[in-house]
Amino acid sequence: MTRSTPSSPTAAASPSAPGASASFAALPLPPHMQANLQQLGYLTMTPIQAASLPLTLAGKDLIAQAKTGSGKTAAFTLPLLMNLNPRRFAVQALVLCPTRELADQVTQEIRRLARAEDNIKTLTLCGGVPVRNQLASLAHGAHIIVGTPGRILDHLQRETLDLSALNTLVLDEADRMLDMGFAEDIAQVIACAPKARQTLLFSATYPDGVSSMAARFMREPQEVRLKEVHAATKIRQRFYEVTEAERLHAVGLLLNHFRPASTLAFCNTKQQCRDLVAVLDAQGISALELHGDLDQRDRDQVLVQFANRSCSVLVATDVAARGLDIAQLEAVINVDITPDAEVHTHRVGRTGRADGEGWAFSLASLDEMGPVGRIEHAHGTPFTWYPLAELTPAGSGTLQAPMATIQILGGRKEKIRAGDVLGALTKDMGFPGAKIGKINVNEFSTYVAVERDIAAQVLRALNAGKVKGKSVKARTL
Ligand code: ADP
Ligand code: MG
Repeated sequence: MTRSTPSSPTAAASPSAPGASASFAALPLPPHMQANLQQLGYLTMTPIQAASLPLTLAGKDLIAQAKTGSGKTAAFTLPLLMNLNPRRFAVQALVLCPTRELADQVTQEIRRLARAEDNIKTLTLCGGVPVRNQLASLAHGAHIIVGTPGRILDHLQRETLDLSALNTLVLDEADRMLDMGFAEDIAQVIACAPKARQTLLFSATYPDGVSSMAARFMREPQEVRLKEVHAATKIRQRFYEVTEAERLHAVGLLLNHFRPASTLAFCNTKQQCRDLVAVLDAQGISALELHGDLDQRDRDQVLVQFANRSCSVLVATDVAARGLDIAQLEAVINVDITPDAEVHTHRVGRTGRADGEGWAFSLASLDEMGPVGRIEHAHGTPFTWYPLAELTPAGSGTLQAPMATIQILGGRKEKIRAGDVLGALTKDMGFPGAKIGKINVNEFSTYVAVERDIAAQVLRALNAGKVKGKSVKARTL
């Protein structure tokens, strides 16, 4: 399961036998942190956590390679928290991430893991938000900064961020940061950090660029690599031959036949995304498009709706989907075949995450058989083709998503917490908790997923009622 590489002479063997479950209790973590992990439902360590935490909690630099969804965030957050002195008001940890979405996800996970500790402040600094909006937050002080290399560097150059008290540096998704051209920015950021620090590097793959980055910036790093258990056999690939006239309609046929709860559909162009969403909409299938023209706020809203099950199909171009980290995708549909075999592999690899099974459907016209042949060659084994005619609607009813999202104007800036909203909805307004889904509190907005059949009532109740003693404005997305 884990193996140490020749360059890591002291790499400890994994404390748990492969497959065995290891308890967090074995780790040198204080009782309040143990209790918090229990409350979060983290009962046993994931393999990457079991292999890396004994090393990182002992202060070692670490290179860890494991696939998405394997629990890497907690693997670096626990050592980072142990290195931190909450009474010292200075930035002590920095986590570099490739995209804003990932930075937001990491920040949320850090906040959950840090909540047992008093007053640890975590701040996200990414592009897409005016710099001046971040200055006030920075002036308030933060212990942990999570952000993208470009924006972090920007703050360092403006001297609005000071890393002189830094003791932990994390490079999360290092391979993707390099893919996105952040190598130089990362080097410049690290040049501003103290040399005496713990450096933790996480990556899903281990290309040469990552190893040279490790050699440059790390001190005798230990290496932990988890073999890809994400076997190709878990992802069932099916190819369907279509004419151009059939293509968009065929997506509806696939969805009606297989009924995946969540699907990412890839198109080669923005226009194709728009056309597909229109076709699916007309069939009562909740679909939203994600493309480069959306501003950050719209993009966030689309992702919130997809994650909270208010939308079951996300239609995206490759560029827009880059850096997206969505767990539990049941299906990927290649609405158009990509000319690049590697892109195909990336697309397909997004399903079947977290050791689940996944479907990958590809629609190909005769004109696309050239690229399909190249993809097949790279894949190594021949693809299986299925006739469109086998697709018959399974069951009745529409494919509408089970939830709807209500946006409350007001978020962290107004000190709204998920518990306040849940309390208002269940205690004050009398809605059953079981009908309320995910609640996302962003900086300026709160998004509440509720079962579709009560959405209109919830909206009325929120607009007439109060949250945390204050009237709020709400709307359905
Ligand atoms: P990665 O960064 O490797 O893609 P994440 O850190 O985002 O993975 O973790 C994936 C999911 O697993 C998150 O929802 C996280 O809360 C959850 N998780 C992580 N560690 C554990 C654990 N030990 N027990 C249960 N859930 C966990
Ligand atoms: Mg991660």
